[in-house]
Amino acid sequence: MLKTALVTGGNRGIGRAIAAGLCADHRVVIAVRDRQAGRETAEALGCGWLHLDLEAPEGFAPALERIGGVDVLVNNAGILIDSNMIDDPQGVARSMQVMFHAPYELIRLCVPHMAAQGWGRIVNLSSDWGSFSEGLAGPGAYGVAKAALNALTHALPRDLPEGIKVNAMCPGWVATRMGGPDAPRSPEKGAETALWLARLGQDGPTGGFFRDKKEMGW
Ligand code: NDP
Repeated sequence: MLKTALVTGGNRGIGRAIAAGLCADHRVVIAVRDRQAGRETAEALGCGWLHLDLEAPEGFAPALERIGGVDVLVNNAGILIDSNMIDDPQGVARSMQVMFHAPYELIRLCVPHMAAQGWGRIVNLSSDWGSFSEGLAGPGAYGVAKAALNALTHALPRDLPEGIKVNAMCPGWVATRMGGPDAPRSPEKGAETALWLARLGQDGPTGGFFRDKKEMGW
């Protein structure tokens, strides 16, 4: 039976490329906040879609119940808010909600099924802008939220049941709405490491941070 993969923000950008890659050997469901975009992308990729606004956490559990168990969770969705953190506390709160609290809640909701299967893969789309050793150079709230997501990824293996792996990755600079048109990488190239982490064997790493399938510094 095909494993079920859920990709947040799967309607465009890197998330769409990850969903397209996983369609080869998974039942893929993209989680989207824009119903129209979700419907169109799902039709184009031949996958399922689910309405999920990551800023509306009360909808998470009912939405996940509709698709049954998730074997592969890709926390891909992100927002880049680069306003001054002192002037814009809402920007900080939204960044933390979309890129830290929502991934954490989705992980919690997906783990019971993964634990029952004795197998699960969680991939967190992060960034070198969330890495202290790589510079933490990113605009305020975005870098802080990605650093928190990295910390979560690093700490979770202790608390995850046997057989579940969680890893974070940086896609590099990718030409998407977030990355802009000058970025050198295609969404498909940006998706490669996420697709590798989604399909890790039992001897694969957990609690790591990767770019181009190579470990990078926190
Ligand atoms: P895009 O801006 O192209 O796409 C972002 C996706 O996230 C969209 O599908 C968007 O939905 C979704 N999203 C945003 N907010 C919410 C929300 N509240 N609820 C549900 N979905 C939401 O970004 P990329 O594809 O470039 O980025 C994907 C990931 O990779 C992000 O986590 C990003 O931080 C990371 N990354 C990207 C880099 C790059 O160079 N592009 C570099 C390093 C990391 P909608 O279409 O409705 O807006």
